[in-house]
Amino acid sequence: MKIHHILKRINTSFWKIGILSVAILIFLISCQQKEKNSKITKEMGENVFLQKWTGPYGGVPAFDKMKIEDLESAVIVGMELNLTEMETIANNSEEPTFENTIVAMEKSGKVLDRVFAYYGILRSNMSTPESRKIQAGLAPKLSEFNSKILQNEKLFQRVKAVYNNSLETPLEADQQRVVELTYKGFAMRGAELDEAKKKRYAAINKELSTLYTNFSNNVLHDEENYVTYLTKDQLSGLSESFIKSAAKIAEDKDHKGTYAVTNTRSSMDPFLTYSNERELRKQVWTNYYARGDNGDEFDNNNLIAEILKLRRERVELMGYKNYAEWRLQDRMAKTPENALNLMNTVWPAAIARVKEEVADMQAVADANKDNLTIEPWDYRYYAEKVRKKKYDLNSEEVKQYLQLDKLREAMFYVAGRLFNFSFKPVPAGSVPVFQEDVKVWEVTNKDTGEHIGLWYLDPYARTGKRSGAWATTYRSHTTFDGNKTVLASNNSNFVKPAPGEPVLVSWDDASTFFHEFGHALHFFSSEVKYPTLNGGVRDYTEFQSQLLERWLPTDEVINTYLVHYKTGKPMPKSLVSKIKKAATFNQGFATTEYLASALMDMKLHLADPTNIDIDAFEKETLTQLKMPKELVMRHRTPQFGHVFSGEGYATAYYGYMWADVLTADAAEAFQEAPGGFYDKEMAEKLVKYLFAPRNSIDPAEAYRMFRGRDAKMEALMRDRGFPVKN
Ligand SMILES: [Zn+2]
Repeated sequence: MKIHHILKRINTSFWKIGILSVAILIFLISCQQKEKNSKITKEMGENVFLQKWTGPYGGVPAFDKMKIEDLESAVIVGMELNLTEMETIANNSEEPTFENTIVAMEKSGKVLDRVFAYYGILRSNMSTPESRKIQAGLAPKLSEFNSKILQNEKLFQRVKAVYNNSLETPLEADQQRVVELTYKGFAMRGAELDEAKKKRYAAINKELSTLYTNFSNNVLHDEENYVTYLTKDQLSGLSESFIKSAAKIAEDKDHKGTYAVTNTRSSMDPFLTYSNERELRKQVWTNYYARGDNGDEFDNNNLIAEILKLRRERVELMGYKNYAEWRLQDRMAKTPENALNLMNTVWPAAIARVKEEVADMQAVADANKDNLTIEPWDYRYYAEKVRKKKYDLNSEEVKQYLQLDKLREAMFYVAGRLFNFSFKPVPAGSVPVFQEDVKVWEVTNKDTGEHIGLWYLDPYARTGKRSGAWATTYRSHTTFDGNKTVLASNNSNFVKPAPGEPVLVSWDDASTFFHEFGHALHFFSSEVKYPTLNGGVRDYTEFQSQLLERWLPTDEVINTYLVHYKTGKPMPKSLVSKIKKAATFNQGFATTEYLASALMDMKLHLADPTNIDIDAFEKETLTQLKMPKELVMRHRTPQFGHVFSGEGYATAYYGYMWADVLTADAAEAFQEAPGGFYDKEMAEKLVKYLFAPRNSIDPAEAYRMFRGRDAKMEALMRDRGFPVKN
C-alpha cells in the first residue's frame, strides 16, 4: 500500500468554506465587536498568512515571508472571520435561496483557506518543534470551530429549506449536487436531531474522542516499550544500513553497543525479511502483532468494544441500522453489501495463492535443510528467498535507468499526450518558494496557451519534512466567483545528490512519483464551478492517481526516458519484462493480510456490539474466513489505528481495493484500445469523465460514462495474477 496523502484542509470539514470580502465583512459586524474588529484589521495588515496573494498567475502564496510566530493568530483570525460569515448567512432576513445561502457558504472562508496553504507547509514540509507545539494547541480550537458551524441551527434550517425547494424545483445539475452534499454533510452529523438527541450525540462524540486518543496512546506505548536489543553476533543477514541505523537508535535509547529493533513496521518489516535468526524473528513478530493486546492497562480490547457501542448508538439516533450503512451512503460503494461483495469475491483467490506461496517457501526451506515448517515469522524471510530465485531482479540494476529528472520529463510527456498540458519552468525568482530546492512550473494548455496553474515540486528529504510522498493544492480551480487557477504541489523524499549527480530511484519510488503526479493532474483538470465539488470521495480519489502509475512502464516512456544514466541506452526489454513479472509476486500475502483487516473492519461494525468480546470476535471471524495460519491480519484489531484512533478509515479500509478495481479495469480499457495507453479517444474520455468532473457527478455514474459499464472485479484478479473463472 502506498503512503500518500492529499492534505486538503486539516480537520475534515465537509464543505469547502468559501467567501465575502473582508471589507464587507467588517462593515457587517456588530458594535460590541468593534474592539475585536480593530484587532482583526490590524492582524490583516501585518500578518503575512492573512494577506491576499499578490504577484503573477492570479496571485501566489508569499512562502518566502512566512513567520512562524504569526501562525496561531492567523488561524484564530481566519476562524473568527469564517464564523462571522456563517453567522451573517444564518441571520439573513431574506428567504433562503441557493444564492444567499449555498453560494454565500461556498464563498466564505477565503482567508482561512489562505492560512491553511501555509499551515500545511509548516506542518508537512517545514515542521519544527515550535510549529508542532503551535499546531497541537490549535487542534482542539479547529475542532471546536467545525462543531460551531455544524451545530449552527439557523444555518442548517436555511440549508434545509434550499434543499427541500430543490427537490421540488431542481437546480442546474452541479448546483443540485452542491446543495445535496451540503445538506447531507449537516444531516449525517446530527443536524436533524431534536434537542435531547443532539445533546446525547454531542456527548457520544466527546466520549469517542477521548477513547480514540487513549487507543492511539496505548499502541504508541507498546511500540515504544517493546524494543528488541541485538548483540553483535545476532546481526546475520541484516543490511549495513539497517545495522547502522539500529546502532544509532540503541545509542539514543541508552543501550550503546547494542542494536535496536523498534516495535514499528519500518523496523519489523526489514528485520523479518532479512534476519537469519529465527528465534529473534519470532520475538520481533510477537511484539509487533501483540501491540494493544498485552492484557495490561494498555490493552485496547475493551476500548474497542466501547467505541463500537458508542458508534452504533450514535447512528441509531439518526435512524441508521449500523455504522457501516451510515458511513457508506456517500461513498462510491454506497452500501456495506457492495463492499463486502468485492472482498468476498477476491478472498478465496487470495488465500488459495497463499497456499501456493507457502509451498514454494517450504520447498526452499527443505532444500536448504532448514528443518522447519513455515510460521508467520518466516513468511517474509522465505518469500524474499523465493523472489530472488524466481525473478532474479536486481534492484540496483533497475535504478540505473530511473533518473529523477528524466522521470519528471516523462510525466510531463504523459500529461501532454493525455491531458494536452504543457509544463514550463517559471522565470527564476518570479514565484516565491519556501525552500531553495522547491521548483515551480507553469501549466498551460498545449494548443491554446491558456494558463491553467502552477506546479510546485519539493523533491528532497530534509529535517522537519514528513516522510513519504504526497500531493496538495494551495488553490483549487473554481469559476463561480471569477476564474481561479490551480496551485498544486508534489512532495517527495528523495536523497539530494551531490551537485551535477543524477538522482537514481527505485521502481517503487518511480511509481509513487507518477502516483502523486496523478493527484496533481486531477487537481489541474478540474472543471468544477463550486469549491465543494472539488472534494474527494474516499474510495474514489486514489483511483485517478493509481491509474497514472500505469503509464510508467509504457514503451513511449521506457524508450525515451528510462535510459541508463551513463550510457543513455533505454532499459532493456528483458529487464522490463522481469519487472512486470515480479509485480504479481507475493500477492497472496499482500492481498490476504490486507483483506483480512478490511473484512474485520466491516464485520466489526455490522455485528451487534452489545456484549461483544473483541478477542473472541477476531478469532471466530478468522476461523470462519479460513484465514491461513501462516500469516496474520495486516493490522490486528487491537492496533488498527485506521479504524479506532479516529474515524478516517472506519468501515472504509476496503476503499483501497475498491479503487484498485477501478484502476485495473480502466487500465484494461486502455490496453484494449486501438492506440493503447495513448489512444486519443480514450484519453479524451479519461479527462472528460474521470478527471475533470471531480465530485460534481456521482463517481459510479462518471465511471459508467467512461467505460460504458461498471468496473469488473475480474480485472483486479487478473492484475494480481489470480485465476479468473469464466
Ligand atoms: Zn494517493
